[in-house]
Amino acid sequence: MQSIKSVLAKAACILASSSDSAGLDAEILLCQILNKERSHLRAWPNRQLEPEHTSRFWTLIQERQKGVPIAYITGNREFWSRDFYVTPEVLIPRPETELLIELSLKLISPAQSVSIIDLGTGSGIIAVTLTLECPRAKISATDLSLPALRIAQLNANNHHVTDIDFYHSDWFAGIPDAKFNLVISNPPYIAEDDKHLQEGDIRFEPQTALRASRQGLNDIIIIADTARNYLESGGHLLIEHGYNQQQRVQAIFKDFNYDNIQTHKDLSGHPRVTYGQWSYSAVSE
Ligand code: GLN
Repeated sequence: MQSIKSVLAKAACILASSSDSAGLDAEILLCQILNKERSHLRAWPNRQLEPEHTSRFWTLIQERQKGVPIAYITGNREFWSRDFYVTPEVLIPRPETELLIELSLKLISPAQSVSIIDLGTGSGIIAVTLTLECPRAKISATDLSLPALRIAQLNANNHHVTDIDFYHSDWFAGIPDAKFNLVISNPPYIAEDDKHLQEGDIRFEPQTALRASRQGLNDIIIIADTARNYLESGGHLLIEHGYNQQQRVQAIFKDFNYDNIQTHKDLSGHPRVTYGQWSYSAVSE
């Protein structure tokens, strides 16, 4: 039998060459096997592990050594302080996407009965979080990927959310005639030749959720264009984008006659979400 301390030290050593968070990765994976919090490992470093636990732990460490992201090994990732189920069929939730939620909550108060659509919902983090934070809002969510829609539905069920309308749809293409007060999306926005696509966790994520043609802007252009037919007058558009796309995204919003265009920075100080407001009068001006 081996102690918690000794397997963690050995695993951190094995992972050191493939991960820059080797010690933490080893702890998270051991917690997964033992079904305990990290504080348990600190409190009982000399506790001996069952051989069955040790052998399952080494299997996970091997996965991680191959580069598989922690979230895909454990099957979950936290977003807006809630746990979400994830598989390689969906993007891993990112902390910067919380900016979309923060901005939505400034635009919409929990008491308002508004309608919101989350385009490209993936694991469903945006749609589920907004449903829980704005219980009176009516939320719709789309994805082109059926496996992603299944995962979003599972996450909704796990959080006891039953009233999201899910659509299998290429952006707005499969949405019946409807008007929304808020259109929100974290679309694919990485340029197809971006070298980051060959690095780290991102190599294991669904490429269709990450890459877009026209230097990463194609889906943003489609959404900003078509959202005009689906927004109420005075309705809001919020789109997440790359740290270096602020000017180009603002120009796209401007070309499509959105008002009050503003870009907001994420916690790392990168321009990350652009806002635009749609009013019918803008067209006739
Ligand atoms: N809406 C999901 C997220 O924000 C998926 C986004 C995507 O797949 N591009 O994580």
